Amino acid sequence: MKNVIFIAPPAAGKGTQSERLMEIGYEHISTGDMLREEINKNTVLGKEINEIITKGKLVSDELVFELITNKITNLSKPFILDGFPRTINQVKLLDELFQKLNITNYEVVYLDVSLDVALKRALGRLTCSCGSSYNIYNENLKPKLENICDKCGKVLVKRNDDNEESFKVRFETFLNNIEPIKDFYREKGRLHVIDTMLSTEEVTDRIKGILI
Ligand code: AMP
Repeated sequence: MKNVIFIAPPAAGKGTQSERLMEIGYEHISTGDMLREEINKNTVLGKEINEIITKGKLVSDELVFELITNKITNLSKPFILDGFPRTINQVKLLDELFQKLNITNYEVVYLDVSLDVALKRALGRLTCSCGSSYNIYNENLKPKLENICDKCGKVLVKRNDDNEESFKVRFETFLNNIEPIKDFYREKGRLHVIDTMLSTEEVTDRIKGILI
């Protein structure tokens, strides 16, 4: 199984597709999750991160790069990079890290979605501290019991930044940064674009077709 980098607008379904790949043995590395963990610790750094994330802005390249370097360096499983890289500078840092660690076995999957669809997904999204995510607007992704995690029974929460205002900033930031990132991986012959208007299952099948 190949390693995978997911690049996608917010709420395109990276989290859901990552869960499916974890079921077949992938390790999930999500910079967003790692940043939210830091926020939950209530440290000074966590408070600074919270302010940035709530506005829908990006935290510094250095901070997120340090987080993923620590994770990737000690892995024995194939990994999913979810939410990194998000700027061309992060792409270059990651490329250098891959060269240093001799990681050549990877593909880049771009999950495409329009602003309207992504906004609706974000407004319906509920997450659990165990890592599971749900969507109240999608029959297949709804929790079985309202507001309760199917997997661990905890109460589901809405992300702070899943409101219309900060979502639009996140989407626009994504669009402003994405073209050079796509060009970089297209030139390497590693870019695969999947339209997420397909069903969740079909998207998973296409991803597996690329990676396995
Ligand atoms: P996500 O869970 O991937 O939607 O990320 C949530 C938020 O965390 C983003 O809106 C950013 O504020 C921050 N974040 C996550 N990954 C990165 C990254 N690679 N670079 C900068 N900020 C990030």
